[in-house]
Amino acid sequence: GTVASAQANFMRVVVNSALQQEDSGSLGVELLCVVKAVLKKIKRRVLVGDKVMVGSIDWVDRRGMIENVFQRKSEILDPPVANVDHLLVLFSLEQPKIEPFTLTRFLVEAESTGIPLTLALNKAELVEQATLVEWKSRLRGWGYEPVICSVDTKRGLDTLQFILRDQTTVIVGPSGVGKSSLINALRGTKSVPEDDNWFEPILGSTWFEEQRVGQVSTRSGKGKHTTRNVSLLPLSGGGYLADTPGFNQPSLLKVTKQSLAQYFPEIQKMLKDNGPGKCSFSDCLHLGEPGCIVKADWERYPFYLQFLDEIKIREEFQ
Ligand code: GDP
Ligand code: ZN
Repeated sequence: GTVASAQANFMRVVVNSALQQEDSGSLGVELLCVVKAVLKKIKRRVLVGDKVMVGSIDWVDRRGMIENVFQRKSEILDPPVANVDHLLVLFSLEQPKIEPFTLTRFLVEAESTGIPLTLALNKAELVEQATLVEWKSRLRGWGYEPVICSVDTKRGLDTLQFILRDQTTVIVGPSGVGKSSLINALRGTKSVPEDDNWFEPILGSTWFEEQRVGQVSTRSGKGKHTTRNVSLLPLSGGGYLADTPGFNQPSLLKVTKQSLAQYFPEIQKMLKDNGPGKCSFSDCLHLGEPGCIVKADWERYPFYLQFLDEIKIREEFQ
């Protein structure tokens, strides 16, 4: 099965065993599982999105035990999800308006995971056609082909459903752009309890909370305590969408001075179009070094420089 959510030592696992397919439909059955002690002993942490082998199943009470974890295809840490095969970067055209620097920050963070991404722009019905055309051509200049959508009018939702089918997708974007609304619009009908009461009997600190606190404190120096649980929601078109409340500040912590250029399609295109595809210096940061083939005449070059400064400062303090 697939781990759909986790808290403390309990995981909700959606299983797709042939044994119980009659009553479950295509969305599988959920079991409340504990993790076998031996896995904990060898520090094999189970993440949401992990493919697991469940045993000791009690189909009546819907309980089981995770006995093994299959090898991960991918793993992202912020939010912590295994086997993500797609990122959906969602912004809205209005309310809030697209802020190009913030959008670039999300795109750089998404590109840095190496996982394929789709950019979607929501609330299309709030802007004029001319604005849409303008944004499309501007983003094409950045190297992206956005999906224009509106949860309110359902525009573009078929396209998104098609793009997301049979994949595990994490949706990211600033707050207020319509992430929850989109998730609700695309979700399967099988109800996954929304409230955290499901976990009521298990109190005390959870490892998600612990991990969050650790991450926040390295970033800001403060031990801010935030509870942010990730869950995978089955989509009606097949696949899962990770609901990641609160994860809307890309940290760029994995991005280095040297790797930053890889996350700007414009730079990659300039290097590719140049034939040999290289600047004179192999560690060129494209700041006008002799023999640099990256020009400065593109829209996001100032953003590139700004991120470079941010990363330099961070690396100096590390
Ligand atoms: P999140 O913070 O990204 O999860 O955003 P929400 O899903 O909570 O949505 C924020 C607000 O935008 C809510 O009031 C939604 O009703 C509204 N909203 C979502 N999609 C659309 C849309 O396509 N058009 C308009 N006009 N409003 C939308
Ligand atoms: Zn260069």
